[in-house]
Amino acid sequence: MDTSYWNKATLYCYVNNLRQQLLPCSSAYTIDSKALAKRWIKNLFLEELSFPSNKICGILYKGERSTSIALNATRSPEMQNFDCMHELVHYYLHDIKRCQCICADNAGKTGVSQDKILEWQANEGAAQFLIPYHDFIPKLSHLIDFPPHLDFWYSGYLAEYYNVSIPVIECRIDNLSYEIDQYRSGVSIDKIRVLSKTQQARQGIKATCYNAVCAFAATSYVSELNITRSQNPLDIAFFKTYSAENPEVNLAFF
Ligand SMILES: [Zn+2]
Repeated sequence: MDTSYWNKATLYCYVNNLRQQLLPCSSAYTIDSKALAKRWIKNLFLEELSFPSNKICGILYKGERSTSIALNATRSPEMQNFDCMHELVHYYLHDIKRCQCICADNAGKTGVSQDKILEWQANEGAAQFLIPYHDFIPKLSHLIDFPPHLDFWYSGYLAEYYNVSIPVIECRIDNLSYEIDQYRSGVSIDKIRVLSKTQQARQGIKATCYNAVCAFAATSYVSELNITRSQNPLDIAFFKTYSAENPEVNLAFF
């Protein structure tokens, strides 16, 4: 299967189908990707090894008769959960000749040569599998409107919920900003137009920075803005008034 011309929407369709195949009866969102790999891949050797660099995430070898996945034992369990799903996306969606690879989260610093398109697909596909946008966007949007408490830490809470690391959640928030904008302007989650950052740039679309919106509730902002605990900084009316009075605070919101 030639996936080189897939856009984000096409990739998500394939990942959603894969998700239904591997998790046919489950509505759970805390996924153990190692358990999935062991359950579904025949003749799999899955092991954790101490790699020389923390930036190397995993190694996949998909052969005709057996498959090996080696994960970096020096990375946290949450990071390994994403890394293993990254290798599963390679395994299920990419040509066998392309499934003998070393995967790193920063190719430039490790010296590992990587196919940028395939790596983007494996990362974006793993994110959609572990953190599906149709579940994530309504949940995040609700938390933005109704944070459980003033110092609520969005990334930490969501990372624990989806069993991934905090940078993965922050990256997901950033990569779904256009889709979140649509949902928050009233588009049904099933009707949302999925576009990659590249496609958005070509169409001149500028989406809201939701990591900044979430960070607005952080303790540092609370103390800096001298907001009392009775005031919710994410209250929209308050936010609009504050933004009007403080134009140097560059946060889009609606
Ligand atoms: Zn990879």
